Amino acid sequence: MGSRRKFIKTTGALGLTAITSKLISNEQINALETFAKLPGNDPAFTLPKLPYSYNALEPFIDKQTMEIHYTKHHQAYVNKLNETPSTNIDYMSNDATKCTHVDKTTSMVIRNNLGGHYNHSLFWQLLKPNPEGHKNPAEGKLADAIHKEFKSFEEFQKQFAEKATKIFGSGWCWLIEQNNTLKITTTPNQDNPLMKLDHERGKIILGLDVWEHAYYLKYQNKRADYISNWWNVVNWNKAEELFNTK
Ligand code: MN
Repeated sequence: MGSRRKFIKTTGALGLTAITSKLISNEQINALETFAKLPGNDPAFTLPKLPYSYNALEPFIDKQTMEIHYTKHHQAYVNKLNETPSTNIDYMSNDATKCTHVDKTTSMVIRNNLGGHYNHSLFWQLLKPNPEGHKNPAEGKLADAIHKEFKSFEEFQKQFAEKATKIFGSGWCWLIEQNNTLKITTTPNQDNPLMKLDHERGKIILGLDVWEHAYYLKYQNKRADYISNWWNVVNWNKAEELFNTK
């Protein structure tokens, strides 16, 4: 088992070298290494600490939703990863223990739960308590890039909200950087733009969970209201940090 794990780590390192490019930042690779430890370690996958209390995002995201989202939904992705016997994971051929290596050949249990774990770990960091609310990002390079690409911040918000609202069923809406261009893109289920699948790939700047579990208790079927209020608690400092990391 020890030598097997060593082999996996070695191939993993080679794979990381191959994908170290403009597409995926070093910080995101490091984050993936942190979130997605190899099965066999104990505990292999762990729930990252929430950087604020459950009620900290009130009134825009309610306490009960946050508590269930974090302690039940995110925890379930972590548990499922840890419960999956290593013999059922195709990482020997694919190194599917990292989102950047997930492709169509990856087992669905890994794709869904690794994506769920990664997406939520990032999502918590991209939220920030702000009881008084705000609608605009901090001044900075990201704000400049948004204005350049979308003409205005309001137009960016409009386009992002439209795409997020139109996702059929469960999924995520993302702001990504692809070849020095900002793009709004969506993925179904727990897929993300790091994965090698049939969607736009790129460096993640911002992500919004539009699964019903993210908003239904407070907003019921009114996803557009959830999105409109989510702008108030976006952590633009974190988005700026992701944008500036090469
Ligand atoms: Mn979720």
